[in-house]
Amino acid sequence: MLGERSIEHVVLERGEVANSWRRERWDSLRLLTPNSQSRLPGYRYQGADPDGFMTMREVIGFIDGFAASIAAPVRTHTEVTHVRPVEDGYRIVTSQGELQCRSLVIASGACNVPSVPALRDAMPSSIAHVTPFDYRNPQSLPGGGVLVVGASATGVQLADELRRSGRRVLLSVGEHVRLPRTYRGRDVLWWMEASGIWNQRYDEIDDVERARNLPSPQLVGSPQRTTLDLNALNAQGVEIVGRLAAVRDGRALFSGGLRNQFALADLKMNRLLESFDEWADRASVEVSPPERFEPTRVPNAPRLSLDLANGEIRSIVWATGFRPDYRWLDVPVLDRKGRLQHEGGVVASPRLYAMGLPMLRRRKSTFIHGAEDDARDVVEHLAQAL
Ligand SMILES: Cc1cc2nc3c(=O)[nH]c(=O)nc-3n(C[C@H](O)[C@H](O)[C@H](O)COP(=O)(O)OP(=O)(O)OC[C@H]3O[C@@H](n4cnc5c(N)ncnc54)[C@H](O)[C@@H]3O)c2cc1C
Repeated sequence: MLGERSIEHVVLERGEVANSWRRERWDSLRLLTPNSQSRLPGYRYQGADPDGFMTMREVIGFIDGFAASIAAPVRTHTEVTHVRPVEDGYRIVTSQGELQCRSLVIASGACNVPSVPALRDAMPSSIAHVTPFDYRNPQSLPGGGVLVVGASATGVQLADELRRSGRRVLLSVGEHVRLPRTYRGRDVLWWMEASGIWNQRYDEIDDVERARNLPSPQLVGSPQRTTLDLNALNAQGVEIVGRLAAVRDGRALFSGGLRNQFALADLKMNRLLESFDEWADRASVEVSPPERFEPTRVPNAPRLSLDLANGEIRSIVWATGFRPDYRWLDVPVLDRKGRLQHEGGVVASPRLYAMGLPMLRRRKSTFIHGAEDDARDVVEHLAQAL
């Protein structure tokens, strides 16, 4: 889009094109968004399986294809190590030398570092700690039982894979977003798009800060189109426990509020499905009849503590989210929690912009296909400012 407006530009990338998909994902991962939603500006999935889910190899091929199609001026293996404001622009220090620009778009990603709670340091030394960036497959963990902490997309997928490999698996569940894979015969993310929810703008959402920090939905992209909610995991033999609250004397302590957590997630899911139904009625869409799903089953006597020192649990997978890394950014635009302050991608420093953050300008900004509309808006602002 910058090229279309003849704005001279360069893209600095510390690794290769599609680096996060090459380096920071586990072997079995597929996108949880269907192929029909694999879209970048002027470029979309063209294959024969619009309802399928790309493997990592396919995602890399897709992004490489896009970069080639627009002849993106990418300088690979060029890490940005320092950025500071200077008169009329920004001074950029990279691993390949320095440069200066009038305008800067921060597109370094929302998920540069796995977020791991400080509780980790209180764990017995016999426990191996694994983040989604280290995890590749079940064989990459020491033998024995696994505690997976966090039950959003990453946590449920890894708990499922580890359980299928024959491990004992406990899944620690806090606030989560439950979704069925399909609803009334269509993919649930088709509904998000068709009903207009994904196009909701950031300035129309009541509490955008909260919305930006919501966990990812419990979804997996699999050829079988399976729903991977807590009932499915429970049926497979994954032991569901509450939020990891503390570690004391070698024991993990879990909070007891599972019933409330489940009721809230079920309620929110049902409200969303009702909004789909209302939209389908209004728009006279031809879909199969409404469905309702079994409430999340609460374990009879959920475990409140776990001995981490007796050797039964050998590893902990921290599926507790990710955060961006702005250590290189020497511009006063971060809040006290280190989050980039911006208004729909417009950062409070002259001609400084952001892309690729959760709900940057729309609900869909969190996903690959959100980039097109966001880039159009951000580039419009940038062009005016220049
Ligand atoms: C586990 C996981 C699964 C996901 N699944 C889906 C999905 O199914 N569907 C979907 O639509 N979205 C999914 N997402 C979200 C998706 O990753 C983002 O929407 C998308 O990657 C945003 O692209 P981006 O280019 O903004 O960020 P990224 O893909 O994170 O790219 C940022 C790039 O910046 C580079 N970089 C960072 N710091 C520097 C630096 N200092 N100097 C130079 N280069 C730097 C990185 O190497 C990287 O290549 C998933 C995210 C994760 C973490």
